[in-house]
Amino acid sequence: MSGGMPGGLRTRAVHGGRQDLGRLGVHAPPIDLSTTYPVPDQDLGGRALGEWADGAESAASPVYARLHNPTVARFERALAELEGTDSAVAFASGMAAVTAVVQAACLTTGRPHVVAVRPLYGGTDHLLGTGLLGTTTSYVAPDEVAAALRPDTGLVVLETPANPSLDLVDIAAVVDQAGDVPVLVDNTFATPVLQNPAAHGAAYVLHSGTKYLGGHGDVLGGVVACAADRAGPLRQLRILTGAVLHPLGGYLLHRGLATLPLRVEAAQRSATELAGRLAEHSGVRHVRYPGLAAGDEAVLGRQLRGPGAMLAFEPAGDPHVVVAKLGLVTPAVSLGSVDTLIEHPAALTHRLVGDADLAACGVPPRLLRLSIGLEDVEDLWDDLDQALRVAAHG
Ligand SMILES: *Cc1c(COP(=O)(O)O)cnc(C)c1O
Repeated sequence: MSGGMPGGLRTRAVHGGRQDLGRLGVHAPPIDLSTTYPVPDQDLGGRALGEWADGAESAASPVYARLHNPTVARFERALAELEGTDSAVAFASGMAAVTAVVQAACLTTGRPHVVAVRPLYGGTDHLLGTGLLGTTTSYVAPDEVAAALRPDTGLVVLETPANPSLDLVDIAAVVDQAGDVPVLVDNTFATPVLQNPAAHGAAYVLHSGTKYLGGHGDVLGGVVACAADRAGPLRQLRILTGAVLHPLGGYLLHRGLATLPLRVEAAQRSATELAGRLAEHSGVRHVRYPGLAAGDEAVLGRQLRGPGAMLAFEPAGDPHVVVAKLGLVTPAVSLGSVDTLIEHPAALTHRLVGDADLAACGVPPRLLRLSIGLEDVEDLWDDLDQALRVAAHG
């Protein structure tokens, strides 16, 4: 765990990763776009290069942008502070981050078997299902993890709240079952504002920074928060596979963290209101939102500090008519932006998982997924209400 800076969540979100700015005499973090760095003492430069290649967190010179970038490193320190881990390692995208964890936990250890709790983000599910990285995967329900472990299991993967069903998974219970096998928790939906999986035993905490961390729909990135001994191999892999986050992305993700608690809290308030109203709507069959399902209370409060701003529902009418009739809500994949987004998982984000596998893990074919943004809640309601009425009654 990190030495940690003092203060509450909002204070840490604003001040994290800014420790060197006073010495630099600047207020906003500088965006360092250098691809190479002068090394007049080539021996010293060589030693730094060797240290980066060994997975070091710091060295005398960045030497070359694929080895290290100071702007990205500030974002990493800030995110590690919020997750309560020693370290964080940023990547070009959430999927690059998933790939690096699978490589570190499975491929470099000779344990190519993965146990994955469904449902998962469609890209992660498809990466593991295709075996493109040379892994094999057993897909299980949360209480089947122990039974699925093999001597060559290198990683357990889960997501909570899960994408797109909003199912909650008890992280500590899965960690218990996993024993010595490291557990990767995708914390994209909850964000560090609502959940810190490392405190419940997760070895790797992953975010698609593209979503809430950036928060404005204008930056692609990923990050893994973990202990120092797990961060080193991830940095080594990042250097050699080149899956680096661009410094401008690092800057935007770092800036996004400052407002992350306020954005998540505000969107969560609207989502809670809308989930309640949707549950009463005649054009809606079933609402998925943390706290609504039996058993959620075991996780909500203890592990997940709030229900969040993602929800899903089954419309009574054709889901594509609902989407087509919306005016304010943007029909688009992705989530966690300032504006409210809606998408049909079976058609888009989870298309590659396939209907039978989706049904088996409790994702109905008509389910629509909503990412609630920062608009006035009454405007969102008016839009949803009219679209649901048209879809239900033609
Ligand atoms: C989007 C997403 C990813 C993948 O992230 P990219 O930045 O798009 O590569 C992984 N997990 C979850 C839960 C996501 O929503």
